[in-house]
Amino acid sequence: MGEKILEVNQLKKYFTVGGGQVLLAVNDVSFSINKGETFGLVGESGCGKSTIGRTILGLYDKTDGEVLYDGNNIHSLTTKEKFQMYRRMQMIFQDPYASLNPRSTIKEVISEPMEVHGVYKNKQEKLDRVYQLLEEVGLNRDHANRYPHEFSGGQRQRIGIARALALNPDFIIADEPISALDVSVQAQVVNLLKDLQMDKGLTFLFIAHDLSMVKLISDRIGVMYLGNLVELTNSEELYDNPLHPYTKALLSAIPIPDPDIEETRERIILKGELPSPIHPPSGCVFRTRCPMAMEVCALKKPTWQEIEQDHYVACHLYDETIVNTEQARGLATKLK
Ligand code: SF4
Repeated sequence: MGEKILEVNQLKKYFTVGGGQVLLAVNDVSFSINKGETFGLVGESGCGKSTIGRTILGLYDKTDGEVLYDGNNIHSLTTKEKFQMYRRMQMIFQDPYASLNPRSTIKEVISEPMEVHGVYKNKQEKLDRVYQLLEEVGLNRDHANRYPHEFSGGQRQRIGIARALALNPDFIIADEPISALDVSVQAQVVNLLKDLQMDKGLTFLFIAHDLSMVKLISDRIGVMYLGNLVELTNSEELYDNPLHPYTKALLSAIPIPDPDIEETRERIILKGELPSPIHPPSGCVFRTRCPMAMEVCALKKPTWQEIEQDHYVACHLYDETIVNTEQARGLATKLK
């Protein structure tokens, strides 16, 4: 186990919405990320994964719990301390076009964080740094004076990555950085991120809504459902030995590039929509869509437990005391 750079402990983030109702976007989530690691956070849209990213950066206040970055409690920092911390923590956004000012040249877009933080007073040094960053992300210095609309989606995401690297951060939250891109371009951007990680020793929190590309980049993966972390392990173990019924359903949705296997592949189709995080189901939040649900699942929230070394899951199916007792056998009927 490497040295931890980020610790998220029992984090809760609730929002008050219309009529004073409370939306439980993130509900008691804990995980840590090691230096130089890529941690994938996966789940359907609306599961709270992007809210976690923004709360880690301190863009949202937490409701409860704590976020420690290199030992610093993010939500206890002063505005000035947080500003300094942002030199080390950066974000790459899902929609590269929306995150780039259409009226700014690429040179201005990439140098903006340097301006804000007062790095490189010398104009030429700043320009040289922009050129260097463009080259690092697979573009070239001729692109510096162009505008965002002159680039393809993949190129715009490269520009977003260059901007995120401008201050030499050591931790990057990539919030669905490939979701808006064509499949062929997705792999190129993932490979670029991997190369940059190797070169610079970066740590990534890689947020995505499906498991297919996440495997290529992540060392460990956490699976989220309705504000809760339901499974966490290293990426190979997750693909070879998924435990949670939701993880199994997500994995079964990944197409296999072999037509024979693909034809016979068994897909687990989840019924129904993601429930509202304003009124989450009692007990296990996945129970209304879980093909394995038992009556006990409506009564009791499953505990987060380590089933095998470094493989964690929250599901009553792995709680021996529940499954093996007379009571559980009596309750082990499928919910309608
Ligand atoms: Fe399904 Fe019950 Fe496990 Fe939840 S606790 S995932 S409802 S079997």
